[in-house]
Amino acid sequence: MQANHELVKGARDFARSHGRLYINGAQTDSLLEETLDTIDPSSGDVWATVHAGGVADIDRAVQAAHSCFERDWGRRPPADRERFLRRFLDLLEKNTDLLAALDSIDNGVVLSMLRTQGAGLLLSTVEYFSGWPTKIAGQAFAPTLLPSVPGRTATLSTIFEPIGVVGCILPWNAPAAFSLTKAIPALAAGCTVVVKPAEQTPVSALAIAELLTEAGLPAGAFNVVNGMGDVAGAALVNHPLVRKISFTGSTDVGRIISQAGGRSFKRLTLELGGKSAFIVMDDADIDTAAAVAHMAGYFLNGQFCMCPSRLFVERRVRDRFVATMSAMAQSMRVGPSYQEGVTMGPLISALDQQRVHGIVSDVAAAGGTVVYGGAPTEGPGFGFQPTLVDVADHGLPFCQEEIFGPVMGVTAFDRDEMDGLVKMVNNVRYGLAASIWTSDLKTAHSLIPTLQVGVVSINDHATVDAMYPFGGVKDSGIGREFGCDGFESFFEKKSVSVCY
Ligand code: NAD
Repeated sequence: MQANHELVKGARDFARSHGRLYINGAQTDSLLEETLDTIDPSSGDVWATVHAGGVADIDRAVQAAHSCFERDWGRRPPADRERFLRRFLDLLEKNTDLLAALDSIDNGVVLSMLRTQGAGLLLSTVEYFSGWPTKIAGQAFAPTLLPSVPGRTATLSTIFEPIGVVGCILPWNAPAAFSLTKAIPALAAGCTVVVKPAEQTPVSALAIAELLTEAGLPAGAFNVVNGMGDVAGAALVNHPLVRKISFTGSTDVGRIISQAGGRSFKRLTLELGGKSAFIVMDDADIDTAAAVAHMAGYFLNGQFCMCPSRLFVERRVRDRFVATMSAMAQSMRVGPSYQEGVTMGPLISALDQQRVHGIVSDVAAAGGTVVYGGAPTEGPGFGFQPTLVDVADHGLPFCQEEIFGPVMGVTAFDRDEMDGLVKMVNNVRYGLAASIWTSDLKTAHSLIPTLQVGVVSINDHATVDAMYPFGGVKDSGIGREFGCDGFESFFEKKSVSVCY
């Protein structure tokens, strides 16, 4: 196993030679003639510079994807696509360390975690979807009693057809994972893609493009256009040949995309922000619940859409739960993401470090009590201490808005206030995930239908698995990724009647 510093060196070498756009199977210069600097949040220094594309570059990429879809990839037999995905899986397995290092430098997520857990998600996603192309099947119906030619018979059926060119717009918190979780099911379905990574994390998608080409994907099936969201991202959403947008990011940008994409009736999958609840009853395994809250709350340095930022703990066990979390937080080491022994990396930017600090200061001024943490760590880089705030007033912005940092709030409740608890949990605009910790199945089952979320877990939180549909309700988005639902979202269903 290579040491972290060797991987970081390899990643820096890769970035030096791969900063251009990737269109039609090759690196190419941006027609916009602009570049983007990407900052290593562990040091605060610019570590790579990439080409930034504009409207004309998006058009080139979409035209390449459309032509490849029409003449090649969209017409391939499903078994061909499966064989390609298995070849890609083999190649990916040899390159997960490179992708982990690129993302760790780019977004500050701990490299050892990306090399293990992160790599596991990448590989299992490709493996899962590599089995789907030959399994998709429509329906056959009984002959209709209403054929348009009286006296004849008409059989009715449905067939699945790949939707066409898909625009994938990514956030920065898990760039390689989002490149693959969006593009691989699309490619498995026979679609072609144009990926627009986040400005902060433009590099790993370029490495994935090379790997896909090396595995035998035809030119034009997977294209990468880095650039600004309101330029390259907006051009992708507005392009008439793009039939679907698969977006993960903030609710505010999701709303813009929903309006712009709606004008041309594009299919939309929108995975947006969250404010997830973590409900701990007094009959739960408290130590395990605290350990999972700690793990999920500080996962991706707290920049995790399903971060359990609202911990609701039954009053009788609140002190023990908080004491266990405090002890675990003490043993964390915040530092550069690729340094051995570091358990939590920095926030994505200096601005986010200040923003998160401001949120904690504001809630402290409004009556919240900082149990531990609450301040930026010493530089270099944009670190922030793992933080827990005791907060009673659930109406405060701290309890209502996504923080996207290593900060959770804990609120005690009593067993005779369950209706009030459910109201509190639901009284936010988001609806991504919630978990219930209890040893009583009756409590668990009575709460499941009351929670307005897309993902609910019992004695578990935020499990992600390629076979398991994932997505939110309310301001957390529309549509589902992963599983059969995620795969089917890359198809149109055509109804076919045959009269004879
Ligand atoms: P963001 O919304 O700022 O940016 C996401 C992407 O949208 C970037 O690629 C950006 O360039 C692009 N973009 C910006 N303006 C655009 C426009 N007008 N048209 C088209 N594209 C545009 O989000 P972010 O800061 O990168 O990511 C953090 C957010 O993502 C958080 O809110 C987090 O909860 C959310 N997120 C959600 C999930 C989920 O699965 N629900 C997962 C990860 C992150």
